[in-house]
Amino acid sequence: MKVQCFTVGNFQVNTYLVTDEATGHAAIIDTGETDELVRRLRALDPAPDIKMILLTHGHLDHAGALSMLQAQWDVPTSLPKDEVPLFQTLPIQGTMFGQPSLNRPCGRIDHYVVDGDTVQLGETTLRFLSTPGHTPGQGCWYDDDDIIVGDTLFAGSIGRVDFPMSDGALAKVSLRRLLALPGHMRVHSGHGPVTTLDKELKTNPFLGYLRVERGLPAGWGMDW
Ligand SMILES: [Zn+2]
Repeated sequence: MKVQCFTVGNFQVNTYLVTDEATGHAAIIDTGETDELVRRLRALDPAPDIKMILLTHGHLDHAGALSMLQAQWDVPTSLPKDEVPLFQTLPIQGTMFGQPSLNRPCGRIDHYVVDGDTVQLGETTLRFLSTPGHTPGQGCWYDDDDIIVGDTLFAGSIGRVDFPMSDGALAKVSLRRLLALPGHMRVHSGHGPVTTLDKELKTNPFLGYLRVERGLPAGWGMDW
């Protein structure tokens, strides 16, 4: 699977175009909140063969431009089922974050996914891992080598868990499950650079509790 990152919009969110190399079938993962991703994908030559849109979670920087993308590519769209309550706030999320000009329509959801669900992209099977905490239903999409994690995990940090619908205790459980995947996997986050699960397990200050659990050198860890 080929993974291309497009950093877009006011929040410099990382959105992704993932492509099954055997068939050329492609999926957009997350949207930004402006038309920048539409413009950048339309500028690609050859044009990507976009078959689906997948969302990690319902924050406006990740899902706000869904209707703009669907106006261009009318393809099946999947949202984590437990993310519906947050997703439905998109028309007022801009206001909630103090920027009413960023209020957005919800766009259309065709499939509501739960932990363990899969989608077929050409010959690539994408799996869905539910990782709530930052939001009620956030999740990750992955194959054997690459995982797109939204705001679950960043290089050296994690997504904020102090939002009204966040839950830090849930995030700890989710990160434990995420870090149980093979350490070589490349982690493509919603913000910041690419990393690997192994590197984060060894060095991320928010994962000290996992190092203790596994008997690894604890290093510098934060209580959170
Ligand atoms: Zn977020």
